[in-house]
Amino acid sequence: MKETVDQDWLEQSIIVLKGVGEKMLERFSKRSLFSLNDLLFHLPLRYQDKTRVISIASLRIGDSALVTGKLLSCKTHYARSAVLSCEIDDGSGVLSLRFFHFNKQQVVGLSRALEQGKWLKCFGEIKRGRQCLEIIHPEYRVIDQHQTIQLEESLSPIYPTTDGLSQLAIRNAVIPVIEQLKTQMANTKGDSITLVKDYLPPAIRQELQLPSLLEALIYLHAPPPDCAVFELVEGNDPYRQSLVFEELLAHQLSMKQAYQEQKQYHAPPFLLAASKNIARPYSEQFLQQLPFELTQAQSRVLADIASDVSDAHPMQRLIQGDVGSGKTVVAALSALYAIENGFQAALMAPTELLAAQHRDNFQQWLEPLGLNVAWLSGKSKVKQRREALESIADGSAQMIIGTHALFQEEVVFHDLAMVIIDEQHRFGVHQRLALLQKGLNKGLPKERHPHQLIMTATPIPRTLAMTAYAHLDCSIIDELPPGRTPVETVVLGEQRRDDILQRVHQACLKGRQAYWVCTLIEESEVLQCQAAEKTYEQLCLQLPDLAIGLVHGRMKGDEKKAVMASFKQGELALLVATTVIEVGVDVPNASLMIIENSERLGLSQLHQLRGRVGRGSQSSACVLMYGSPLSKNGKSRLMTLRETSDGFEVARKDLALRGPGEVLGTRQTGLAEMKIADVIRDQHLIPGINTLAQRLINDYPETVEPLIKRWIGHKVDYKNV
Ligand code: ADP
Ligand code: MG
Repeated sequence: MKETVDQDWLEQSIIVLKGVGEKMLERFSKRSLFSLNDLLFHLPLRYQDKTRVISIASLRIGDSALVTGKLLSCKTHYARSAVLSCEIDDGSGVLSLRFFHFNKQQVVGLSRALEQGKWLKCFGEIKRGRQCLEIIHPEYRVIDQHQTIQLEESLSPIYPTTDGLSQLAIRNAVIPVIEQLKTQMANTKGDSITLVKDYLPPAIRQELQLPSLLEALIYLHAPPPDCAVFELVEGNDPYRQSLVFEELLAHQLSMKQAYQEQKQYHAPPFLLAASKNIARPYSEQFLQQLPFELTQAQSRVLADIASDVSDAHPMQRLIQGDVGSGKTVVAALSALYAIENGFQAALMAPTELLAAQHRDNFQQWLEPLGLNVAWLSGKSKVKQRREALESIADGSAQMIIGTHALFQEEVVFHDLAMVIIDEQHRFGVHQRLALLQKGLNKGLPKERHPHQLIMTATPIPRTLAMTAYAHLDCSIIDELPPGRTPVETVVLGEQRRDDILQRVHQACLKGRQAYWVCTLIEESEVLQCQAAEKTYEQLCLQLPDLAIGLVHGRMKGDEKKAVMASFKQGELALLVATTVIEVGVDVPNASLMIIENSERLGLSQLHQLRGRVGRGSQSSACVLMYGSPLSKNGKSRLMTLRETSDGFEVARKDLALRGPGEVLGTRQTGLAEMKIADVIRDQHLIPGINTLAQRLINDYPETVEPLIKRWIGHKVDYKNV
């Protein structure tokens, strides 16, 4: 390592560290750890407390604790593998220790070492055992009863690791870096700390009473012996919080920056039809032909959109609206704003089925206005495709609808000015960017970007939205169209299948239509489709007098289309489907839904599925069937759905259970990839951070870039979602 320490010291490759060679370097790089600085910001996830011995009586489940005690007994029994169980007693209580999966020889060795009456020191996570608390596979050592226990001086940090990169390797690498920083801090008495530059302006640090960055880093990597152990172990000591704060701030800044970068671009400002300066006010005509009035919420969101698109910079708006809240009409009107100004609009949907539904709707709505709707899917035939491409390129198609096929190389738009994306979280980052690139018109003096509208049916709580969607303006459709009858949700075990079958049968004979949804744990589409095929055959046998259809993801586009069409027209009474029908399918007469193995799906997904019924005026029901035995947690999840039909409430519960990465489907947003912050646990910080981020951008713009670089580095993906 370099002896002289200067500003660039931390920029050095970790190869300067003792014990880090080429091989190690490669392992570190797998976790994006290249420089000493990267290492410094690779923060411990949690801590092990070996600073004190805990009495058995005061152990808490879930803690990792150091315990001593006298061996009361030691038994071996052989189940599928050998299990060795011992009990130790420290005078305050009894703790059980269990070791699994040993071969006979190991067991003999172990039971010889663990002789009754000996004293043990052991460390591990405390779990609930059969008779008393227990540790499974503790670290242990036989000790002398009167021996003073070697305690560690401070908490041991536990770092995130990867295959081939051990806890010890990371610790050994971090220690010399921290030592160097401590020396430096001592030498400069903390007042001219240049090694780790603190980008937060001192005034702000002071105002928020945040400790200095260097202090916080040292504290977290090497907690002092007198540290507040409990707070640190639980993740809410002030040093840790200050870094959590900075990390959330950096994410917020990066998203706001992405937003502002987009706003620098030019977009064509639209005249609004209401201004009467438009020759053919399609949006007005469309509204007149609609068989219903817009809800207040729809009108409010449209007003937001209208105001955005009359600006000369691209709209970047997200619409959150519960399933069935009427987002499609809003999308259609937004598209018409572009079209009546002489531009093209494109709508991209994540699945073939959803895209096809949109196409049907838009054709029905737009063709009477004399407009052309072009259709592009991965499965379009050669001739159709060529024609579609031509109409997109020469501008004769004003509205373009499709799947990700929309952003393939050969698609050239004539004059795209509005991009609408449905169910955004199903698209990858690059897909959305590719479509945006399509709208660029490089012939104009300044690069021109299209307006963007993104629609999501997973409404999330406000603080989370502030983080996840800080790069978008958000509007919420918080009202369902009138006349909807709430869906009655029933939770039933699989053993009631026959009853359910009868119920479906009766309902269908009375002219109702039903969905029968098949699920699988595996994300494997093939298996899911096979399961649906099997169920379909079975139901055809059991209910021979009903017209039953089947739709799944591996069917040809035309086949799927035909089945959906005949279901929509009421020719089929029962539709067996995979979760392909989760989004967008709209058949108002369908009023009954059976979901098999519903315990396998996430709450938000179930809520989406359920949203396919309850769209007409008749009362609807959704049966959540579960395979037994159902865990307690599984049951309470299903009960949530029985009790609420509010998408926000469902999302809140789902977030608490599965975390934001899963629910938003946005592992790539970086929300799930933060180093130490946790958007759920730390959400109370978010409103303050949101305000501060704006303040930094306005008053201390020079701090923005370095903060982003430090915490997010080269992970560009995230801000572009
Ligand atoms: P989602 O928000 O789930 O995409 P849709 O746009 O598919 O919802 O709308 C659901 C149903 O409600 C559709 O049949 C649509 O025609 C109907 N709808 C939309 N807006 C209204 C309204 N203001 N009044 C009555 N029905 C409406
Ligand atoms: Mg929809």
